Amino acid sequence: MPTVAGGPRILLRRLREIMAEAATAQARLDKLVQVIASNMVAEVCSIYLRRAGAVYELFATEGLNRSAVHNTRLKRGEGLVGMVGETAEAINLSDAPAHPRFSYRPETGEDPYRSFLGVPIVRGGQVYGVLTVQNRAARMYDEEEVEALQTVAMVLAEVVAQGGLFDTAELDEPELRADRPRSFQGDPLSEGIAIGYAVLHEPRIKVERLIADDPAAELTRLDKALDGLRASVDQMLASTELDLTGESRDVIEAYRLFARDQGWRQRLRDAVRTGLTAEAAVERVQDELRLRIVRTGDGLLRERLHDFEDLARRLLRHLGHTAESEAVLPDDAVIIARAMGPAELLDYPRGKLIGLVLEEVAPTSHVAIVARAMGIPLVGNMEGIADNARGGDLIVVDGETGEAQLRPAQEIVRAFKTRSSLREQRAKEMALIRDLPCVTKDGVHIQLMMNAGLVIDLPHLEECGADGIGLFRTELQFMIGETMPGLSAQIAFYRQVIEEAGNKPVTFRTLDLGGDKILPYGRWEREENPALGWRALRIALDRPALLRYQIRALLTASAGRTLRVLLPMVSDVAEFNAARALIDRELERARLLSQPQPRQTLVGAMLEVPALMFMLPQLLRSADFVSIGSNDLLQFVFAMDRTNPRVARRYDALNPAALTLIRQIVQSAADANGEVSLCGEIAGRPLEAMALIGLGLRTLSMQPANVGPVKMMVRSINAGEVGEFVTRLCARTDHSLRTRLMAFAAERGVVLK
Ligand code: PEP
Ligand code: MG
Repeated sequence: MPTVAGGPRILLRRLREIMAEAATAQARLDKLVQVIASNMVAEVCSIYLRRAGAVYELFATEGLNRSAVHNTRLKRGEGLVGMVGETAEAINLSDAPAHPRFSYRPETGEDPYRSFLGVPIVRGGQVYGVLTVQNRAARMYDEEEVEALQTVAMVLAEVVAQGGLFDTAELDEPELRADRPRSFQGDPLSEGIAIGYAVLHEPRIKVERLIADDPAAELTRLDKALDGLRASVDQMLASTELDLTGESRDVIEAYRLFARDQGWRQRLRDAVRTGLTAEAAVERVQDELRLRIVRTGDGLLRERLHDFEDLARRLLRHLGHTAESEAVLPDDAVIIARAMGPAELLDYPRGKLIGLVLEEVAPTSHVAIVARAMGIPLVGNMEGIADNARGGDLIVVDGETGEAQLRPAQEIVRAFKTRSSLREQRAKEMALIRDLPCVTKDGVHIQLMMNAGLVIDLPHLEECGADGIGLFRTELQFMIGETMPGLSAQIAFYRQVIEEAGNKPVTFRTLDLGGDKILPYGRWEREENPALGWRALRIALDRPALLRYQIRALLTASAGRTLRVLLPMVSDVAEFNAARALIDRELERARLLSQPQPRQTLVGAMLEVPALMFMLPQLLRSADFVSIGSNDLLQFVFAMDRTNPRVARRYDALNPAALTLIRQIVQSAADANGEVSLCGEIAGRPLEAMALIGLGLRTLSMQPANVGPVKMMVRSINAGEVGEFVTRLCARTDHSLRTRLMAFAAERGVVLK
C-alpha cells in the first residue's frame, strides 16, 4: 500500500532544489510531478493550472499520456479537477470513475486509475490550479498523504504567484495577476480626489522562507510564539482591567478565546509538522480559513475572520517579523484599512496623508466625520480592497463618486488629474467670493454658518468665510479621547474654540451621545432601536452631573461674552425647561461663588423630534432660538433609519411633505418672534439650500467646504421668486421635487456648483 515515502519534509526539500534549478519552467514542473509521484508512491501525479476563463489546463504529468499536456482542459466545476477548483477543497476518492462528476478524457489514458486525490493550489483566496495524485488500486488516501499534498500545493502556489516558474501573465488569466489594475466602487463619504500610494493600515507581513531547515526547531519556535501571543492577550486584559468595559472588553475576551483555540493551534502545528516554516504554516492555515469562511457568505463568521487575521498578524510579530510599511509613512499616502476608529486616523501625520479607503464604515460613523473635518477624501464599503492592495501601489480615490482605482493605467491617472485640477480651480473661485456679501439679487441677506466639532475644524472658519459656528458638536471631542475629559480639560478646549472663532459667534451643542455615538470608555447597553433610545438630552436629564459639568465648563470658558448653548433631541417643552433649570442652577452657582460669567447666556433647542413642532409657540417662550436638525427630523418624519444604506436615500428631503413641514416651522417661529436656523446636511447642498431659502430660512449651518458653493447660489437667486415657486411646489404630490427645482434653477441661471 502506498504511503508517503520519507515524509513530506524530504519532498519539500526536493521541491526546493527543483525550484532552484536553472531549467525551463516546463522542465521543472515535469521533474516536480515525477518527484511527488515517487515520494507519494502514486502512479500518477499531475499539475493543472488555471488559464483564461477559469479553465484548468494540464501543465505537467507523471503517469498520464504526455501528449495530453497543454491539451486537456477542464472548466471550473467540470470533472473532478474542475470541482476541486470550484470548491477550493480537497477531494479524496477510492473510486473516481464512479463519481457523478467524473469526466472521462480518453486522451489522458487515465482508464486504469481508480483512486484520486486532488487538492487546490491556493494563495490569497485565489485558486491557481489543482494538484492531483492517482493510483490503480481502489483506496482512500490517508490524512498524512492529504496533508503532504496540500503542503506541496501551498509551496507551489507561492512559487506560481510570485512568478517563480513563469510570468503569471503567461497563464493569460487576468484574475490571477496580482499586479493587474483593479477598480472598486464604494460609497463616497468625504469629498476630494487623492492620487497617491497605498499604505496598508494593518500591513501584511511578507513570508519569505517557506520550507523549514529543522522541523523540530520550527515547532518549538511556533509553540514559543503561540505562548507569547497568549501572554500578550492576557496582559492586554489584565492591564486595562479597570477601564475596559462593554464591547471593548468583549472583543479582547474573544481574542483570548481565539488565542487559546485548540483547533487553530493544532492546525498550525500540523502544518509545521509537514515541513513548513512556522510563518508559512500561519499563512497556510489563514488561507484555508479565509476560503472556507468567505464561501459560507456568513457575515458573523466574517467578523470572526477579521479577528483571526489580526491574531495571525500578531503571531507573525511574535515570530519576529515586522510589517514592511510600518516604519515611515511615504508622502502622498492613501491609507487602506478594513475598519478604523477616529483616534487611529488622527494618529497619522497630517501632512503626508491624502486619502482614506475603508472596507467597512457607516456614513455617520465618526471616522467619516473626522475624515471630512480633516478634508481627506474617503471612500467606504469597498469589500476586498485590503486583500488586493499592496503597500506602495498607485491608487486613485474619488470621494465624490465613491470609486477607487488600484494600480490604474496612465490614462486613468491623467483623467483624474484633470478632474482634480478642475476642483482646485473651483476652490480658487470659491476663495474669490469668500469676502463678498452673502446677499440674494433682491437684497436678502443670508447668514452662512459652519458646523464643527474638533480642533482641526477651527482653521476652516477663517478659510471658508462663514459668519460663525452654527453647530459645534461637542460630543466628538469626548469620543476621540481614551477617557472622559475632566472639567479643566473641557474649559481649555471650549476656550480654544471661542478664541479661534474671534468675534464670530459659536453655538455649542451639549453632548449628543447615544444612537450611533458611543463613548469608547462608557458602559452602554445595547438597544433595539438606538436612534429612538436613550440618547442626547434624555441621558443628560437622567445623569444631570454630565450636563452640569459641561455647562460649568462652557460658562467659565465664555466669561465676558455671549454663550450660545444648544440642547439636542428635545422631545417636549417640559424636557427643555428641565434642562434650562439645570443651566440656571449653574449660572446661580457661578454668581454665588463670584466666578466669571458670560455676559449673556442664550439657550436653544434642536428641532429633531416631530412632537416638538406642535409646541413651537410654547417652546419659544422659554427657548432663545431653535435649530432644525434635519438629519434626525427627516429620519423620524419618514420613519427611515439614516444609518441604514438600504433606506437612507429612499426619501428625498425635497419631498413636498418635508418642505411643507419646514415651511410651517419657519412660519410658526416667525409668529412667535423666535430665531430659527437649520444645521442638518441639506443646508450645505446648493439646490436644497435654495429651497430652504424659498421656505423662509435665513440662517443655514453646514460643512465648511459647502459654504462657498452655497454662497454662489445665494448670490445668483432672487429670494422672492424662489419663495413663490417653492410655496407652489409644496402643493404637489411628487415623490421628489428635485427635477422641478433643477429646471427652475437652470431657467433662472442659478449657480449650482
Ligand atoms: C441633525 O440631526 O440634523 C444634526 C445636525 O445633528 P447630528 O447630525 O449630529 O445628529
Ligand atoms: Mg441630530
